[in-house]
Amino acid sequence: DFEREIKVLVVGNGGVGKTSMIKRFCRRGAPAPRDRVPLDLMRAAGVFTEDYKKTIGVDFLEKALYVPALGEDVRLFCWDTAGQEEFDSITKTYYRGAGAAVIAFSTTDRASFDAVPSWRRKVTAECGDIAMALVQNKVDLLDRAVVSSEEAEEMARRLGLKFYRSCVKEGLNVTEVFSYLAELHDRK
Ligand code: GDP
Repeated sequence: DFEREIKVLVVGNGGVGKTSMIKRFCRRGAPAPRDRVPLDLMRAAGVFTEDYKKTIGVDFLEKALYVPALGEDVRLFCWDTAGQEEFDSITKTYYRGAGAAVIAFSTTDRASFDAVPSWRRKVTAECGDIAMALVQNKVDLLDRAVVSSEEAEEMARRLGLKFYRSCVKEGLNVTEVFSYLAELHDRK
């Protein structure tokens, strides 16, 4: 029985690893049981599970995650934009009802780092003060880094976000990010 259901957005420039992150996170372990359709959440998103893909062209995966700090399972619905961010109607559906967001950039893509404040503003404008975390992905490519660790940490401080470094490729610090967001969501 799931007490908590959270819609989680993963935002950031194209190519930073958003789709890979969601797939990596949701693939591991048991999927959330389908016996209880999260109707409230679907209604909040303005869609129904069977129709969402062809209707709005965005996709999400779900995952049941045990969060030790909460002592229970949380059901997370992780939404991916699949590069459709520029379409306004999709944007609205994508952001609607979200309770948490990952703001991701890539170690090897300077523009993705520079875009972090605008992604943060966008989430805040659409969703208000929801749980967020800043994630630097592709830390396996640190030898090709175009962002220094000081800059990244300073960005996190400035935006008031907890900072994670992840390697989606190796599954490093992926579950930790979502687990943190579930906890933070609970405290908001
Ligand atoms: P999206 O456009 O943000 O959804 O990014 P994708 O998930 O499509 O990933 C873009 C590319 O980065 C793909 O080729 C991924 O395999 C690769 N990628 C994702 N995460 C990592 C990582 O941690 N390390 C490395 N080296 N490549 C990654």
